[in-house]
Amino acid sequence: MMTVAEHYDVIIIGTGAGGGTLVHRLAPRGKKILVLERGQFLPREKANWSAAEVYNKERYHVHDHWYDKDGHPFRPQMSYWVGGNTKVFGAALLRLRERDFEAVLHKDGISPEWPLKYSDFAPYYLQAEQLYNVHGEQGADPTEPFRQNPYPHSPVSQEPRMQEIFDWLKQHGLHPFPLPVGIKLNESNPIESDCIRCDSCDGFPCLVRGKADAEVNGINPSLTHANVTLKIGAKVLRLHTSESGREVTGVETEIENQIYLFTSDIVVAACGSINSAVLLLRSASDQHPRGLANRSNQVGRNYMKHLTTAMVALTTQKNPSVYQKTIGMSDFYWGEEGFPYPMGFIQNTGNVLPDMIPAEAPSLLASLLKFVPKVDLDLEPQYQLAADHSVGWWFQTEDLPNPINRIRVVGEQIHLDYTPNNTEARDRLIHRWTETLKAIDQGNHLIPFSLYPRNNMPIQVMAHQCGTCRFGEDPDSAVLDLNCRTHEVENLYVVDGSFFPSIGAVNPTLTIIANALRVGDHLLERLK
Ligand SMILES: Cc1cc2nc3c(=O)[nH]c(=O)nc-3n(C[C@H](O)[C@H](O)[C@H](O)COP(=O)(O)OP(=O)(O)OC[C@H]3O[C@@H](n4cnc5c(N)ncnc54)[C@H](O)[C@@H]3O)c2cc1C
Ligand code: SF4
Repeated sequence: MMTVAEHYDVIIIGTGAGGGTLVHRLAPRGKKILVLERGQFLPREKANWSAAEVYNKERYHVHDHWYDKDGHPFRPQMSYWVGGNTKVFGAALLRLRERDFEAVLHKDGISPEWPLKYSDFAPYYLQAEQLYNVHGEQGADPTEPFRQNPYPHSPVSQEPRMQEIFDWLKQHGLHPFPLPVGIKLNESNPIESDCIRCDSCDGFPCLVRGKADAEVNGINPSLTHANVTLKIGAKVLRLHTSESGREVTGVETEIENQIYLFTSDIVVAACGSINSAVLLLRSASDQHPRGLANRSNQVGRNYMKHLTTAMVALTTQKNPSVYQKTIGMSDFYWGEEGFPYPMGFIQNTGNVLPDMIPAEAPSLLASLLKFVPKVDLDLEPQYQLAADHSVGWWFQTEDLPNPINRIRVVGEQIHLDYTPNNTEARDRLIHRWTETLKAIDQGNHLIPFSLYPRNNMPIQVMAHQCGTCRFGEDPDSAVLDLNCRTHEVENLYVVDGSFFPSIGAVNPTLTIIANALRVGDHLLERLK
């Protein structure tokens, strides 16, 4: 039985970077807002910082099974919590470059032009950096887009080993820069600092709420406003529309095995790129037979997630750095001599901890560890030794939007058809970096080979999911208009990573946040 519940001015479905930021923007205006989140508050427990729990046992990932293009099941690395995937993100928060908003020729094709430009996003990028405590250094990144103001916080300092690597890169003619990150770190007054600068940040929840995530910086402050109601454990199943199909008239939601129908003047899907597409596809009706707002047949298509690769560099020199996600490298962002196509972006991973190695480290690393001298046959000391001597690197190359890379709903199952493209650019980036590290390491290899074990991330790693409901002026080719309102349904918006027409090569979340603030301003006008 369905209970018809209260009416609201705005319903926001999902509390991640998109939804959590949007409610923060709308909350102070006094409108009656309902936030529906399928997850719970992520428990604060010691396991938050246990690599064995987080990486080996995947304690905070969902237990869903989705299917790849060949029908093989996999467990997606997704987090359903208040704060969404930002609860475990690495908090690297970068702006897309000006050229990312233009059509760009890549090795495998064209990355399409955005209907809005960098200048439309620039003021919101600044607000996003302020809201999410971003630390960075203006002018240090050679491909940085124009910015009028410095970062709200000074860059996170480099620890001695990372500074050494930073300096070596510079001496080799490269342009490393302090990676912009959103953490609540106060280095000049550590006693007052929320962030304690620990070694378990990227991929971990923050036990002390020092990470600027969408729960801590978006949802929690919004809940101080009496007009905002958050319901957790509230999974939205489908959206109902009026007879004309032009308005959403009900948000069907399951809470503790009861079904409720919430109504609202405006409905915002902010479920993340994959789940927002799933929700629209599941809301098919006579008026919207291919899925809600899907006349363009683009809902769920053009899914992008970056070509991401993790590499572990092992040298004889120890790396005792506590927080090492500190270096960004954009020297090859637009290509290099002999390869006039974008290659991508490089940054440090978080620390490589011993308990991560069996689960996360490149498989090659485990087999190579037997060559590490003077260690026990038991692998644990080897993991420890490897962790003590490693620096993790993370590569991101742009994957191009392709309609065949798509989310499909078959019965109750979620299918993700994804074939990577633009792989030559990725391979080139990794090759260039390996050569660079070899030159820098000067033969100081812990393993007696010049090898840098690495993993290309498989389909279940969908941290940077984007696309699926792209925005654009043409209703025949775009799902959303420029305000991220669906072209076909007048009170339905999608405000998360779905709107990206292309993904660029920097981490996507600052753009998701900036866009949520931008759409928030539009909604405030509309609600006047
Ligand atoms: C390990 C990891 C590291 C990362 N590091 C970085 C980084 O350093 N920098 C960066 O820019 N990005 C990073 N990301 C990516 C970042 O987390 C995402 O870009 C961002 O969270 C996406 O925001 P979103 O609003 O689109 O979706 P999400 O954050 O996924 O939020 C969606 C929310 O909707 C809820 N939801 C889904 N379906 C329903 C439903 N039917 N009913 C109700 N609620 C629903 C979910 O539970 C979730 O809370 C990382 C991600 C991961 C997993
Ligand atoms: S480094 Fe800071 S923000 Fe990151 S998990 Fe540790 S305390 Fe939290």
